[in-house]
Amino acid sequence: MQSPRLFCLCAIFLLIFSSFSSFANEAFRLPQHTHLSKQAVHLNIDPQKQVFSGVTTLHLSFAKPTDVISYHSKALNIKDVYLQYHGKRYPLTVQAPNQYEIVSHKAPLKLKDSATLHIQFSGNLSSHHEGLFRGREQAYLLTQFQSMEARGVFPSLDEPNKKSIFKFSVSTPIEYDVLHNTRVHSITKQHATKLTQFKATPRLNTDILSLAIGQFNATPLDTGHLKSKVYVPKRIPITLPTYFNQIVNASISHIETYLDAPFPFKKLDFIVGNYGSVAAMENLGLVSINYNQIPDLDATDKAHCQFKKLIAHEVAHSWFGNDITMAWYDDYWLNESFTEFIAAKVIQNLYPNQDLCTYTPQSRAFKDDNSKAMPLVFDVKSRKDTLAYGQLHYTKGRALLEMLEQAVGERAFQSLMRRYVDLYHGQNVSTKQFIKLFEDPNLQSVISSFTRQTGYPLVTLSRHNNQIFIEQKDLFNRPEQLWTIPVSLKLWDGGKISTHKLMLSQHKQKVALNKDVKAVFLDAGGVGYFRFVNQSDFEDIPIHKLSRQEKASFNDNLQALAITGHVDFMKYTNALVTELNLLQLGTPRADEIVSTLIDAYLEHVQLNSVSPYTSYLQKHIKLKIQWQQALEKPYGNSLMKLYGVYMQDSNAVNAAKRVYQSGEHIGHAHFDAIVMTLAKNATNEEYKSLIQDFSAIPTTEKEAFLSGLGYVDSAFKAALYYDLLLSDETQGMVIDYRFQFPIFNPALRVSSVQLINARKNEIFNRISSESLQWFPYNFLLACSDEQNKAVHQLFESWQSISGLKSKLSIVSDGIEQCTLNSERIGKSILAASPHSKQ
Ligand SMILES: [Zn+2]
Repeated sequence: MQSPRLFCLCAIFLLIFSSFSSFANEAFRLPQHTHLSKQAVHLNIDPQKQVFSGVTTLHLSFAKPTDVISYHSKALNIKDVYLQYHGKRYPLTVQAPNQYEIVSHKAPLKLKDSATLHIQFSGNLSSHHEGLFRGREQAYLLTQFQSMEARGVFPSLDEPNKKSIFKFSVSTPIEYDVLHNTRVHSITKQHATKLTQFKATPRLNTDILSLAIGQFNATPLDTGHLKSKVYVPKRIPITLPTYFNQIVNASISHIETYLDAPFPFKKLDFIVGNYGSVAAMENLGLVSINYNQIPDLDATDKAHCQFKKLIAHEVAHSWFGNDITMAWYDDYWLNESFTEFIAAKVIQNLYPNQDLCTYTPQSRAFKDDNSKAMPLVFDVKSRKDTLAYGQLHYTKGRALLEMLEQAVGERAFQSLMRRYVDLYHGQNVSTKQFIKLFEDPNLQSVISSFTRQTGYPLVTLSRHNNQIFIEQKDLFNRPEQLWTIPVSLKLWDGGKISTHKLMLSQHKQKVALNKDVKAVFLDAGGVGYFRFVNQSDFEDIPIHKLSRQEKASFNDNLQALAITGHVDFMKYTNALVTELNLLQLGTPRADEIVSTLIDAYLEHVQLNSVSPYTSYLQKHIKLKIQWQQALEKPYGNSLMKLYGVYMQDSNAVNAAKRVYQSGEHIGHAHFDAIVMTLAKNATNEEYKSLIQDFSAIPTTEKEAFLSGLGYVDSAFKAALYYDLLLSDETQGMVIDYRFQFPIFNPALRVSSVQLINARKNEIFNRISSESLQWFPYNFLLACSDEQNKAVHQLFESWQSISGLKSKLSIVSDGIEQCTLNSERIGKSILAASPHSKQ
């Protein structure tokens, strides 16, 4: 699965996850001796109705005699349960599930070998994008079962290691089509009802079952014997990028070759729809894709790169996740890291010049991995715990695999992966079993130290008395943290480049290097899950001698050093601006620098520094921008954000106004940046009229419009914005994380606290308590003692929300960290712009 919030900075919210729930001492797992050999599920669904009903038969087998029958059921109304055993029927009393949604019946006698369980039930459509729910367009229903949500649609053994064969049939009003993991076996029409029966599934876990009910357009893909199709609800106008078919085929063939294992299943269709905050989901044979992930043709290379990677990722799940499945939810990183690892390889191989989005996964992970983050492997007992899955399971996990690959060598690592796939084909795997693949205890320790510990080390190279040392230190100052780190040094003797691999497992170690070494780079390959400083008297390797991945790592590391005070912040900014002035607009590096400057406004430039920082950029950036032309190019997007929203440049603002007033904004590739710029620079009256425009904006544009409207510059506008979020106009849209947009503006952080406090009841009515626990993340970019205090005061009366306290503590930790750094950064900005007004 992937959450779209992982893809944009607007979505820092939900990026760091944690949860420290306390559990009653009660079994949270089904009995391990009970297996589900097959299950038949029949559902009666009318998309116009809120209630659905069904009957199911579970064929259970028992590894040892038992007198307890258990299964999962969540918010279902169970009407009738009976057991069929040795030809006899035993009615069972309907029982309520326990806190882990497990229903247990005392069997009337000791059961041996096997029995069947028959359950009649009904349920309600979910009001969130989980279980069985309505697409926002109302005309179709979709499902999202990962994690632990299948049990909200039918009773089952809803655990990843209870793989089984499922046979589905669905009755609907005659005008609807039903899609499922497998192909249709038969369709029977009677009066106004249509019964769609499906072929049995391969053995799979409940999380990757899927249904879609509605009217769909189907586009065939050329995928050989798989005969794939892409389904889109009829009312959604979607154009798939022309490369879609190519990326699906290339992913399959590349992964088949890499793993020397054929595509494990017989079907690979796709369904596009409104999946809320899920970007895509690997449901076996019917992969879900959120329509908001599909980039416009004129979107940036980065957006296309990310979409391609998303598709490669979902295809890769056929092996990692669907065929080889995590043993339990605490091994989720195995599902997601392997798919990210392989997806990056597919993109780098297929699009070597447009693969920037696949570099340095660690640099994203570093943003979230601190002392309060969750380790990759952590205890999961309930659905609530799985909400702690964050981008680290993707980015940190992949970075870890890449470090291992570099340590053992590409070929040797490929052999290991092939062995893994061969050994565990069709089964479930735990982290322990993965670790056992590696015979070298050092490598085992690499995996355990990075999956069990949070944060990441700072690696330093130094020289004293002609001896070279390498050392590690926890960036969060926890003395007990120690990692086993595969480090690969890139060396230069003035002529030749070479690499030196070592395993850093102590706090400080000696390194033996050749005498002729002149320059070093501490992260050869750009895959190290650490920050690094060269404090030795070796020079840094000239940047043009680094690979593109290494350059990405170098730039990212330099930024981190500038934020943490190892390098002066404005010296670093100046280097960026100088580099930008020499680049052509639209090159990936120019885009990257513009994005870095935007990020600086979001994360590092605080209230007193906004004006001098802006003056500095206005004075030193020498780009000549023709706005009309720029807005027709992909790079116009981030340029409009930097100039229109942050530097409030009048030419940019006028260009945005022109587009909006001429009506060209509908369907405009940079609609989001244009709305953000208008919101920020509008008068109060103009802003009111923008808010009024929301109801008339076409559905396809509403998501971008609603986010863009949040980039405001006054408490007056922020109040209007929050009222819009809480109004009926946004029903069916995810509003929780959008509260952060006004808070991006350092001038509005304290007043936003008051505005939110005044709307507490409406917020509680609108957002489920499961989601409310993440609300403090809206303040993740807050950055002063005063703001920290205000945030704590706001949430004081929210403490009854389960899980909120730990989220607040992570946010608060981030605020403190930022406050410490911001003082130094602020001084650096002021020093660089001594004449600017404050
Ligand atoms: Zn995934």
